[in-house]
Amino acid sequence: MTATLPTRPALLMGEGLPRFEAITPEQVSAHMPALMAQLEAELQAIEQRLDATAAGQPLSWEGLMQPLQRLGERLRWSWGAVSHLNGVCNTPELRQAHAEQQAAVVTFGNRAGQSAPIYRALRQLQSRSDLDATQRRILASELRDMELRGVGLEGSEREAFNAASQELAELSTRFGNQVLDATNAWSLQLTTPDEVEGLPVSLLEQLAQAARQSPAAGDLSSASAEQGPWLLGLDATRSGPFLQYSLRRDLRERIYKALVSRASGEADAELGTPGNNWPVIERILSLRQEQAHRLGYANWAEVSLASKMAGSEEEVERLLEDLRQAAYPAAAAELEDLRALAAREEAAEAADFQPWDVSFWAERCRRELFDLDSEALRPWFPLPRVLEGLFALCDRLFGIEISAADGEAPVWHPDVRFFRVYDRGTGQAIAAFYLDPYSRPGSKRGGAWMDECLVRSLAADGTPVLPVAYLICNQSPPVGETPSLMTFQEVETLFHEFGHGLHHMLTTVERPQAAGINNVEWDAVELPSQFMENWCYDRATLLGMARHWQSDEPLPEAEFSKLLAARTFMAGAATLRQVHFALTDLRLHSRWSPDGGQTPEQLRREIAASTTVLEPIEEDAFLCSFGHIFAGGYSAGYYSYKWAEVLSADAFSAFEEVGLENEEEIRATGRRFRETVLSLGGSRHPAEVFESFRGRPPSAEALIRHSGLAQGASSGP
Ligand SMILES: [Zn+2]
Repeated sequence: MTATLPTRPALLMGEGLPRFEAITPEQVSAHMPALMAQLEAELQAIEQRLDATAAGQPLSWEGLMQPLQRLGERLRWSWGAVSHLNGVCNTPELRQAHAEQQAAVVTFGNRAGQSAPIYRALRQLQSRSDLDATQRRILASELRDMELRGVGLEGSEREAFNAASQELAELSTRFGNQVLDATNAWSLQLTTPDEVEGLPVSLLEQLAQAARQSPAAGDLSSASAEQGPWLLGLDATRSGPFLQYSLRRDLRERIYKALVSRASGEADAELGTPGNNWPVIERILSLRQEQAHRLGYANWAEVSLASKMAGSEEEVERLLEDLRQAAYPAAAAELEDLRALAAREEAAEAADFQPWDVSFWAERCRRELFDLDSEALRPWFPLPRVLEGLFALCDRLFGIEISAADGEAPVWHPDVRFFRVYDRGTGQAIAAFYLDPYSRPGSKRGGAWMDECLVRSLAADGTPVLPVAYLICNQSPPVGETPSLMTFQEVETLFHEFGHGLHHMLTTVERPQAAGINNVEWDAVELPSQFMENWCYDRATLLGMARHWQSDEPLPEAEFSKLLAARTFMAGAATLRQVHFALTDLRLHSRWSPDGGQTPEQLRREIAASTTVLEPIEEDAFLCSFGHIFAGGYSAGYYSYKWAEVLSADAFSAFEEVGLENEEEIRATGRRFRETVLSLGGSRHPAEVFESFRGRPPSAEALIRHSGLAQGASSGP
């Protein structure tokens, strides 16, 4: 009699490429609880073993870090596959199965992160003298993360810390909900043609659709783009274009004021006014300050910076001041240009220019200067040609060959492609990736992202595990014989995500805790992705791939010039705006305190004096909707956007310095980028990684130049 071995469910394979079609919602509900119970039992066994190990008895990396890593990897593999499918093949059943298991996964992470026996053992391991630099950095990050989770606190301090963490999580949710409620509570019905004068057809269609779908419908159910009525709202997709195009200045003023004062007034059930975020802001800031003190830091900004590349608040302040000085005069000049255009058209606002006039005149100015229609460029960017161009660039810069291997790996949708990456020098396969390019409304999350499928490591038997990436975009699918035709922005997005993918795939670090994007500081992780975007503006790269899908004609030179010029249009205002946000965020978390005699709003207005060219109007309560720092994870970290841009622009400028036409030098510089930035992952401090490529610390000069802000370096007000 032959016994049939029970086969392991697809969800619990724990290694290799997932068999996506076999990972069903039923599997998730049936097997995740068992997996979590098993991992918990193994975690306890590790803790007991550590407790039983007599103090002073030597611990080895293999004895401690490997079992912990394998434990984490089993969860990452299974839950990663479920989360991936939830993003790209969503169904109500899968979403529910995912939601039901999520709490257990989070709890397990918190539990392991606060484990006292593991923390003690890691500290003990740290004292060993035979660890290499990568091991030391992995250990240091692990210990720091556990400390920031409060593992070092005892008794009542620990209780207070956990209670405050809980309250902070609730306050964040409340903040976000109140912004959402305030956004949804406001609407304005437009009924006469003069109220919608100037609006493009696509916006009229959207406003009519909003009217038809509004709960107050009934008489609005027959709304049409041509006849109205049209329903205006504060969501970005309606308010943004309205401010850009509406000829009705009074309506622009109304919607602008409603937008900047969201969630800043007293709640009034009768009027339907939702909650006020001012008290929420003060409570969040006070609690964060208390948490920082409990953890032994002077303020929350120090807590945030403890796990970032930026070394200190002063360092961030210095960068923001450099950018402010470059951007201020440019932003002031841009504003003058808009005013001058308004004056030329004899518009009333020329004399009394207000914030609700900016978008409108900027759009006029943009059309006048560039006449750039992003839709019209699509025929020059068919996906197959763009991929050829991208792969050729990667070959040229990094010496890798990318070839299609469709059919060699299970996929989650017929449109998904699979590719293998080979090293040109050795001919060896070094990585692979999936590409899921098209949008699938209803079942695939919007946006674009890179995620890890397999992380580079050594299997238990010593054989190498090659990294595999998921690259997800959301562009329009092919129609009949017409391939997917991309906008230039979609091309940039693809290059961006591919940069993250290269970081993940070209790593040479074999310890998974620091391979690829793992253990890379948050403010440095966008370096490879933004670096790749720069190549979309490189003449040889762009004109090499931009060919009309039918005629094979290259992109006309005039269109290329417009793309280059549009890149820096209104860059002064855009940079200054980011500086204003970043500085406000940083100082609220470093200089503000509840008994300091200043409200958060007063602090923000003080900062606005030198970081805005049009003073915020009286109703402006922007902090009450600053979700990034009060409802998201960016507190004292908003500066990261600009920080990473400094790194990526400066890295690209190494190529500009040797000359973008100098083939030999470009290849050599590309190889060096691969051997440093793309190879070292999180095994070294990002400053060290950057210097090993650039030969010096980063400088903001390239970013300022690329943004067109290099001239007029006087220092503003
Ligand atoms: Zn990114």
